Amino acid sequence: MNHDSSQISKTIDNLNADKQVLLELDKLVTLFKLEVSPILNLDDILYLPPNKQKEMDSRGRHMVSYQLVLHKKELGEIALVRRTRFTDKEQKFIEKTLVAVLLPLKNTLDYTQAIQSALHDPLTGALNRFSMNSIFNREMELSNRNKTPLSLIALDIDFFKQVNDTYGHATGDCVLKHLTECIRQFTRTTDALFRYDGEEFTLLLNNTSLEGARQLAERIRETVQNTPCICNGQNIYITVSMGISLFQPEDSQTSLFERADQALYQAKKSGRNQVICE
Ligand code: GH3
Ligand code: MG
Ligand code: MG
Repeated sequence: MNHDSSQISKTIDNLNADKQVLLELDKLVTLFKLEVSPILNLDDILYLPPNKQKEMDSRGRHMVSYQLVLHKKELGEIALVRRTRFTDKEQKFIEKTLVAVLLPLKNTLDYTQAIQSALHDPLTGALNRFSMNSIFNREMELSNRNKTPLSLIALDIDFFKQVNDTYGHATGDCVLKHLTECIRQFTRTTDALFRYDGEEFTLLLNNTSLEGARQLAERIRETVQNTPCICNGQNIYITVSMGISLFQPEDSQTSLFERADQALYQAKKSGRNQVICE
């Protein structure tokens, strides 16, 4: 096997052939695997992005692993695994190839981070209002096509202004983060949590009936009520009110939201700390 520089540049050219694909991390890693695995007869290539690092398990096989860094920016860790030991020559080939992959990898990570920031609220990590349009449209289309129920919960913190007035804005922010964590305990990966405005959130639940959404909302309500938010050494208790609507085939995003918001308004009017279905 001759791992000369032309082989390295061919590998890199192939990786760079489709710039659009390279902006997606999974696809970049898959392409790298497809290019490099046959050359080195690898069993696997494992990649962990920065901040998601954990112990890599080679399951008794031989492994070479590298911490990837470019211009002081951490790019994660990559490990190549196979049954036989890597020779010095092979390791040099791997290192040269990895050096050439650093820039596309950095671009991909920067792009992923930019998309993440554009779609999420920086304080709570929930999806932001900007991303609601496309996600609602997709879920409504899927619900119509697959004839599956789609529910929407509108949630608002009760008397949140008092929290700010009593403890200060920074503590208010801490409460918002705590609330998001409480909600996340109960949501599935397919549920979409949005910070709609200030202390108002929406939760879009695919494949969920009105009754299923009500049960989930009740669990969230009880947990929020009973779990203190610990901010600056103080225990702060809050409650939330929720309104729920069920998507109908003729619904627009606005009409679906308005019905959940109406139900939320009823929950507020009826004394707060409760869930009302449309
Ligand atoms: P209600 O039970 O009727 O919902 O009363 P409320 O006090 O929660 O509602 P109101 O609309 O009167 O006040 C909402 C408050 O939320 C006022 C605003 O300062 C606060 N708020 C909005 N966004 C943020 C934020 O990002 N951080 C903090 N700390 N407070 C925020
Ligand atoms: Mg409120
Ligand atoms: Mg409000």
